[in-house]
Amino acid sequence: MDLGITGKTALVCAASKGLGKACALSLAREGVAVTIVARTPGPLEAAAEEIRAATGSTVTAVAADITTPDGQQAALDATPEPDILVNNAGGPPPGDFRDWDRDTWIAAVDANMLTPIFLMKAVVDGMIGRGFGRIVNITSSAVKAPIDILGLSNGARSGLTGFIAGVARKTVRHNVTINNLLPGPFDTERFHANVAVAAKNAGRPVEDVLAQRKAGNPAGRIGDPAEFGELCAYLCSAQASFITGQNFLIDGGSYPGTF
Ligand code: NAP
Repeated sequence: MDLGITGKTALVCAASKGLGKACALSLAREGVAVTIVARTPGPLEAAAEEIRAATGSTVTAVAADITTPDGQQAALDATPEPDILVNNAGGPPPGDFRDWDRDTWIAAVDANMLTPIFLMKAVVDGMIGRGFGRIVNITSSAVKAPIDILGLSNGARSGLTGFIAGVARKTVRHNVTINNLLPGPFDTERFHANVAVAAKNAGRPVEDVLAQRKAGNPAGRIGDPAEFGELCAYLCSAQASFITGQNFLIDGGSYPGTF
């Protein structure tokens, strides 16, 4: 299927690795010129080069912390009028809420709720004026099924989800859609780091914990980031103009509910 977005521009946040990079790659494959943001220049440049070589699309790399006002400005300076915005940032650390002070909470809310809101605020009116816009927020399956040790993520991302539910109905008549993608377990550095922590805490070999996670998923495996990137690209397609305000779980069927 031709997604009808050749020649469009995209700002993809937190995209030198993992799910963000997969989204950038899938969009670039559709002929979208992508700007990718991450803090660490080495892996960022490597990702930019990999996407260029694989797709032939224009890839601009911005080394910045997207959760800071300066970082957001640097990203917007590189791509002031994106047709597509993919919001993403590192997830907050696990822990017990008794140990989290105000600063810890503000950092989580800044990264996983306010950063996407402020980036949307910066680009949405331009999208409305041009009559095309696609905004995808990478959140987490924890929005639907909270993970006890990820209280910062459960809370901050649910705040974003509530905000999106309202605003996504205000933009769609201008062909600007806003949706959330909720990843379950995906084969990324962050996932493996979390498995390593869980294994250490349980005093078990990492391989055992990983095998158990795979076996416990209805699909019998964890997700490939490429599968995630392809769904993101579809939500950014011309054809997806009647889809807005939705929360898409992509988790191999892990979430057990009927709806
Ligand atoms: P990952 O493999 O660790 O990649 C994270 C990417 O984000 C890297 O490119 C990293 O580069 C960049 N990044 C992190 N913080 C940033 C910041 N402040 N500013 C700019 N770039 C930043 O992580 P992932 O697994 O793809 O996860 C992406 C998001 O999905 C996270 O919020 C995670 O919590 C959520 N999620 C993931 C899973 C999963 O199974 N993978 C499941 C549920 C939710 P630098 O470090 O160089 O900045």
